Amino acid sequence: MRIDLHTHSNVSDGTQTPTELVYAAATAGLDVMALTDHDTTVGWGEAFAAADEAGVTLVPGIEISTRAPQGGAHLLAYRPDPENAALSDALTRVRSGRGDREPEMIRRLQGLGSAITTDDVRAVSGGTESTGRPHIADALVMIGEVADRNEAFARYLNPGQPAYVDRYAPPLTEAVGLVVAAGGVAVLAHPWGRNAGSGQPDEATFARLKAAGLAGIEVDHQDHSPQDRERLRAMAINLGLIITGSSDHHGLGKVGHELGCNITDPEQYERILAASTPSH
Ligand code: AMP
Ligand code: FE
Ligand code: FE
Ligand code: ZN
Repeated sequence: MRIDLHTHSNVSDGTQTPTELVYAAATAGLDVMALTDHDTTVGWGEAFAAADEAGVTLVPGIEISTRAPQGGAHLLAYRPDPENAALSDALTRVRSGRGDREPEMIRRLQGLGSAITTDDVRAVSGGTESTGRPHIADALVMIGEVADRNEAFARYLNPGQPAYVDRYAPPLTEAVGLVVAAGGVAVLAHPWGRNAGSGQPDEATFARLKAAGLAGIEVDHQDHSPQDRERLRAMAINLGLIITGSSDHHGLGKVGHELGCNITDPEQYERILAASTPSH
C-alpha cells in the first residue's frame, strides 16, 4: 500500500486543481493521499469527489502556518472537523494575514524596479483565498522577470531578501491544541526543513509538543538528509510519536517533490486513523 500524506493543490500554492491532483496520485500508484493545502479546507469537497471516481482513499488535511520560538513551523492536521469554530477562526485569521501582506510585497517589488501588478498576481493565483509568496513568484515568472519560483525566493522573497514581508501565524502549541480539540491528528511537517529558521527542534522540544497534543513528526521529507531522517526517526521512536513520510508535492511549483517520492508506512497511517475522533 502506497501512502503519501502531504500534497498541495491550486487551492493554495500547488499548480493542479484538486481533481487533477487526485488523478495524478492514482497514476503515480498511490492508494492513499492526503490533501494538505496551506491554511484552508476549501479543496476537500472536490478532492473527495475525485478520489471516489479515481479509486484513491483521501485523507482530508491542512498544513497550518504557525510560529515557534525558533521561527515559522508548519503543522499538518489530519481529519479535523472543518466546522470546528475555533480552528476555522484561526485559519481565517491566517488567511487574512496572507491577504494583507500581498500589496506590501507588490509595492516593495515595484520599488525595486519590477513591473509586477496586483492583476498579475490575480492571474496566477486564480482567486485562491490562501495567497502566498509562491503566487508572487509565479507572477514574476509570468512577466519574465525571473526564471522560476526558486529564483524569485532567492532574490526577493526569502527572509532577509528585500520583498519579504512577515504575516500572522498562531503559536505552534496553540495550533496543536486547536487541531486536537477539533478531533484531528497533529503532525509536525518537515521539522528540520529548509524553512525551520535558526534552531532545529530537539528531542526535548518534541517531548514538550507531545505533551501539548502533538501525535507525530514528518521524518521522510525531501528537506531532510538521510542522516537527519535517521536521527528524527530515533527520536520519534523514543517518544512514541507517529512517523510519516510524504512528498510535499506542489505540482510544477516545487521541483524534486514528485507524488510518492516519500511514503508513509501502513502501520503509521493506521495510527493516524485511530487517533482521529470519528465524531464528524
Ligand atoms: P508563504 O506561505 O507565503 O509564507 O510561502 C511559503 C511557501 O513557499 C512554502 O510553503 C513553500 O511551498 C513555498 N516555497 C518556499 N521556498 C520555495 C522555493 N525556493 N521554491 C518554491 N517554493 C518555495
Ligand atoms: Fe507550499
Ligand atoms: Fe511546509
Ligand atoms: Zn507543504
